[in-house]
Amino acid sequence: MGGNVVLHIPAFFIFVTAMYPFLNIHTHRPDARGGVCPVLCAEPSDFLRGADSAALYSVGHHPWRVGSQSRAELATMAQLLLQKQVVAVGEIGLDKVCDADFRLQQEFFKFQLRMAACVRKPVVVHCVKAWSELLETLSQVEDLPPVVIHGFRGKPQLAEQLLRHGCFLSFGPKFNADTLKSVPLGSLFLETDDDDADIVALYGHTAELLGLGLEQLKQAIAETWQRFFADSPGAALAR
Ligand SMILES: [Zn+2]
Repeated sequence: MGGNVVLHIPAFFIFVTAMYPFLNIHTHRPDARGGVCPVLCAEPSDFLRGADSAALYSVGHHPWRVGSQSRAELATMAQLLLQKQVVAVGEIGLDKVCDADFRLQQEFFKFQLRMAACVRKPVVVHCVKAWSELLETLSQVEDLPPVVIHGFRGKPQLAEQLLRHGCFLSFGPKFNADTLKSVPLGSLFLETDDDDADIVALYGHTAELLGLGLEQLKQAIAETWQRFFADSPGAALAR
């Protein structure tokens, strides 16, 4: 019999046998270095203007800019979410310290959460001083995919409350060290956001703080990443 033999190696097997990458769950700056895997955050209009076809994205209407976009732009976003390289929805959320109308923020946030639920893609959340409203809104959306609170700087008590609601927490260059130590590795991500910090250095610093080896931390976050993206059609790309 002729023909080619095709080996079907499960993607997960390839992943676990390779060196774990430095995963950056939320950044606004491209990073094409080998061994680094960022999820680039973009507004829908920025994504349309020129997305890097080799990069992974989260796309969403940031609460700061709610009001400057029309509701029709939400329809554009729904289209973008069907693209494979858009692996998450965000950053979206609520912010009581910005000028955008809070009710409109809530409307956009809820709508985008529903879109995320429809396409089964996880959500990157921005939240400033609106924690009770955030939890209330999250509880109102059925079949909510996994949610990560990005740039978390809160105290351990707030972290505990969010973890109880099933949220993941992502830490950037500025954070409360006691909180970071209190978060189970299965719920923890690292990110550089819009900072010029280096994700590799952030991993090193965090590993030291947690008393872990660097590879141990990379493996733990890679496993959390797998669970976070487990239902997302883009999961295979987020590796
Ligand atoms: Zn950001």
